[in-house]
Amino acid sequence: MRSKPPTAQIIAVGSELLTPTRLDTNSLFITEQLNRIGVQVERKMIVGDREDLISDAIQSAVESAGVVFVTGGLGPTADDITRETTAELFGRPLLFDEAIMESIEERARRFRFSVGENNRRQAMVPEGAVVLPNPKGTAPGLFLREGGALVFLLPGPPRELKPMVREQVMEVLEKSFPVSVHLTRHLSVASMAESKVDALVEPIYRQYPEIQTTILSSPGIIHLHLGCPGTSSEAEEKLEELSARIKGTLGESLFAEAGQSLEEVVGASLKREGLDLATAESCTGGLIAKMITDVAGSSEYFRGSILTYSNELKKTLLRVPAALLEEQGAVSAAVAEKMAAEVCDVTGASTSLSVTGIAGPGGGTAEKPVGLIFFGLCCRGGVFSKQRLLPGGRETIRLRAARFALDWLRRELL
Ligand code: AMP
Ligand code: MG
Repeated sequence: MRSKPPTAQIIAVGSELLTPTRLDTNSLFITEQLNRIGVQVERKMIVGDREDLISDAIQSAVESAGVVFVTGGLGPTADDITRETTAELFGRPLLFDEAIMESIEERARRFRFSVGENNRRQAMVPEGAVVLPNPKGTAPGLFLREGGALVFLLPGPPRELKPMVREQVMEVLEKSFPVSVHLTRHLSVASMAESKVDALVEPIYRQYPEIQTTILSSPGIIHLHLGCPGTSSEAEEKLEELSARIKGTLGESLFAEAGQSLEEVVGASLKREGLDLATAESCTGGLIAKMITDVAGSSEYFRGSILTYSNELKKTLLRVPAALLEEQGAVSAAVAEKMAAEVCDVTGASTSLSVTGIAGPGGGTAEKPVGLIFFGLCCRGGVFSKQRLLPGGRETIRLRAARFALDWLRRELL
């Protein structure tokens, strides 16, 4: 038993991670999980698929850290040498594990691939290592104790690594030393500037020095993270009190208290109200529809989207009159309203959102500058429009526009 949680080091193995196109994201995920139990990461390394590099990295990590993660290089191909290198470094023979081989064969039958000699390598286990089964792939994880450190060898693909960390590694860590649990809350605010959010909540969270409050801003959405060390009921109460006071000041701008996305919240409201939605998009290019359909089960309330980027399609698909386009321009309140009304008509949806605007960087005028966006909303029999001048580059403007539209609908459905 250790008196306090050890520090950790993470080694990402893979030559592809040293190219300009691939990023090591596994270490970010692992760090997030470790921080939750009070374990800090003191160093990260990225090494190519070379025995000397991998060996040196593991050797120096084990000398300093109590927990060492090695990700990648457990695959069946010749460049995957993490398993062999670790066994060699620690002087442990590799032993064939019948159970791993059986699960690889079972997987091969299910997904109809043939088991090759190289898969046999994945069934080899350094003596004394514990096998962490991998339901998402062929390479199991491995866990061993070496020189006072816990060493985890984990598969590279994030979809295999993540469940293994969540469901198996964390349990091993929690059993191995006293964890310092953090109580957390994650509040999300839409359509309010970061400075405004801070001006409102800073005077409140300042009164709670024992709680760490962080404000993270992204286009159109501000996240507030509240964290409090310990699990005592006193800590829980303080955290509850602070989040209740913050909720009180932010009012309707606060849309989630457990990290839900805007599109999840909108989806839940539509379902609750028995409404369905369609979108008519121009400058967002289908982004609103994409965000809504990112949510599993959205077919229950989302009918679809009509993407009318050109004036021609605004006329033919959404019956926007040519005269209206000429007099008011495609970027106008009247066109936004017409698009919203027509998309309900064409799709039969009860509710709709529309967006038309200038995402830039070109196309702006003094009268209609880049970032000027008109939104239309058709809801419970009424058709409305709003206008906003959104800051940022093209991508940011489009993201802000999509989020603003979703947030408008969310507020309407409250
Ligand atoms: P490997 O286990 O080395 O065969 O890795 C298989 C795949 O997992 C690689 O091609 C990458 O796409 C991905 N991968 C490996 N390491 C990482 C990492 N540190 N972060 C994100 N993806 C990774
Ligand atoms: Mg690799």
